[in-house]
Amino acid sequence: MKTKIILLGPPGCGKGTQAELLGDRLDFVRLSTGDMLREAVRNDTPLGKEAKKYMDAGALVPNDVIIGMMKDKIRELKGTFLLDGFPRTVEQADALAKEIDIDVAINLDVDDEELVSRLTNRRSCPECNSVYHLINKVPKKEGVCDKCGCKLYQRDDDTEKTVRNRLRVYRENTYPLIEYYRERGKLATIEGIGDIEYIYTQVSKALK
Ligand code: AMP
Repeated sequence: MKTKIILLGPPGCGKGTQAELLGDRLDFVRLSTGDMLREAVRNDTPLGKEAKKYMDAGALVPNDVIIGMMKDKIRELKGTFLLDGFPRTVEQADALAKEIDIDVAINLDVDDEELVSRLTNRRSCPECNSVYHLINKVPKKEGVCDKCGCKLYQRDDDTEKTVRNRLRVYRENTYPLIEYYRERGKLATIEGIGDIEYIYTQVSKALK
C-alpha cells in the first residue's frame, strides 16, 4: 500500500473528511497545515499572529513561513502519513521533494458552486478538528461534535466572500500542482462528489 500521500484539491473538496477516515481506519498520521495554523492563532503565538491576517482574508500564508513551520515536522515523519493542505504552491512542493519522495498525490475534484455551498454550511470542531455539514453530514446532536462532545463553530474564513477569494487563490497558486504531480507520475484524480463512503472507496483504491 502507498503510505506517503498528499491530499490535493480546492478548499471544501473533502480533504479533511477523507483525511479523518484514513486516520481512523488505516492509521494514517495526519499533518494539516490549516489545523496547525489555527492552533497557533488560538494560542496567540508569534506564528499565529503573523498567519491570522492572511487566513482571515482567504490568502495564502507566505511560503517561507509555511516551509519554516513544516521543515522539521517533515523530517520527523515516519511510517504511514498524509499531508492535508500542504503543499499549496510549487515552491512548497519543491521544498517537500527535497526532503521526501511521496507515493501519490490524491486530487479530489469538485466544481466551484458545490464548494461554496459546502464551505458556507461547514461546521468544525476546535478540539479534534472533525468536520460536519449542516445538510450532508449533520452531527447527531445539533452544534456538538459526535467524537469529542465539543461545541462546533464556523471558521472565520468559511463565509461566502472569503470562500470565493480562497477559490480564486486556489486556482492561481495550487491548481498548477495537479500538473506538477501528473508530470512526475504521482497524480490520482478522484471525483469528490457524492457519497462520502463511495469517495473513500475510490481513495483507498488509489493507495493500492
Ligand atoms: P485549510 O484549513 O487547509 O483550508 O487552510 C486554512 C488557511 O490556512 C488557508 O486559507 C491559508 O490561509 C492557510 N494555509 C493552510 N495551509 C497553507 C499552505 N500550505 N500554504 C499557505 N497557506 C496555508
